[in-house]
Parts: sequence; C-alpha cells; structure tokens
Amino acid sequence: MLEVHIQKKLTHFTLDVQFVVRDEIVVLFGPSGSGKTTVLNSVAGLVHPDSGRIQLHDMVFFATGQKPMPTRKRKVGYLFQDYALFPHMSVKENIGYGMQSNDMSDVQAILDVLGIQHLLTAYPHEISGGEKQRVALARALATKPDVLLLDEPLSALDEATRLRCQDELLELHRMWKIPILLVTHDTAEAAKLSDRILSIDRGVLTPL
Ligand code: ADP
Ligand code: MG
Repeated sequence: MLEVHIQKKLTHFTLDVQFVVRDEIVVLFGPSGSGKTTVLNSVAGLVHPDSGRIQLHDMVFFATGQKPMPTRKRKVGYLFQDYALFPHMSVKENIGYGMQSNDMSDVQAILDVLGIQHLLTAYPHEISGGEKQRVALARALATKPDVLLLDEPLSALDEATRLRCQDELLELHRMWKIPILLVTHDTAEAAKLSDRILSIDRGVLTPL
C-alpha cells in the first residue's frame, strides 16, 4: 500500500493531500495547475514536500524531519507527462535503460501485451505516437517497479489508440497487482481505468 500525505507551499496555493493507494488504480483527476504532477514528483522523490509522510509498504520514502529516500532506491516506475524517449537509442536500448540486465526475456510478457516485440531495433523517429507511448510504458515497467506513476500517459493519442492502450494498461494491471496512480483529465478515461477517483483542485482533494 502506498500512503501519501503531502504538504507543500506552491506559488499560488498550498498543496495539502492525504490518501492511500492499495493494489488498485487510483486516478488523480483535476484541472491543469491543481498540483497533480507535484504529487507524482513527490512520490518519485524528484521534489520533496515541506512536511508529511510518503510510505510504500514498510519503506518510508519521506517523513518530516528525516532525510528523504533517494529516487533510485524507491522502485518507482514513472511515465512522465511528455514521455520522451532517448532519440539516439533504439527501442530495445530505451526499454533496457535502468534494467539490471539487458535480457529482454525478463520483460517478454510486457512486450507481448503491448505488442511492441517487432519494434525493438527501431529508433523513436521511426515509430508512431502510439508506439512511442507503449515503449515509454514498457520502459517504466521494465524495472519491475513496486508502484507505477502515470502522468497523462494517453492524452497525446488518437481516440482508437487511446482506447486500445487503456485495455492494455488494465490487462497489465491484472497480471501485475501493484499500486498505480494515474493522472488524467479525461472523464471517460478516469471512469474506465480507475478503481477509485480522487478529485483535486488548487492543491486539495474535493468531492467529485
Ligand atoms: P498539474 O500537474 O495539476 O497541472 P503542477 O503540480 O504541475 O499541476 O503545478 C501546480 C502549481 O504549482 C502550478 O501553479 C505550478 O506553477 C506550481 N509549482 C510546481 N512546482 C512547484 C515548485 N517546486 N515550487 C513552487 N510551485 C510549484
Ligand atoms: Mg501536470
């Protein structure tokens, strides 16, 4: 279980949220600028709260007054809002980045579900937006994370591709029950993917 309690003063308001994510998909839903990315960055350790506590199972990522656990020790898979791939690396090298070994057989199930096996030798400029998105998701999953953070992972895709990727994400989650925190501002997507929806506005959770 991921336990999140964050207080952080931002430019225009104070982020103050408290919630848990069990082995489920929790959607963080809210307007642009409401603090969603800051929540994900805090869980990943890219920024730190002013106070609060972030804990995954028995691992304390952050606690007021303690030295935060470094990002590399947190076992967090993070798909950024602009899921940039490394342009000079092949798909295989992109996915292998951050993995212990470069043996793709470890991630075969992920490649199969996402249908990107045939793209391994291609470079990012040679593949479509939807394929890039799948590769970025495979890269986030390849490190076998204990928690997955997805920041508007599907927003750049056309409707048909987005629907297919939503199904793939649900399939991956069925195979691999870990806490997933997913940001979207698409209501249909939130309803389809979420076990629970947290609505956020100006840094606080609000009733839907
Ligand atoms: P969202 O992802 O919901 O669009 P963000 O978390 O990116 O929102 O940003 C929320 C607000 O906090 C924005 O107004 C942004 O300018 C501000 N902000 C983001 N990071 C910091 C920071 N490290 N310090 C102060 N303010 C920040
Ligand atoms: Mg954001």
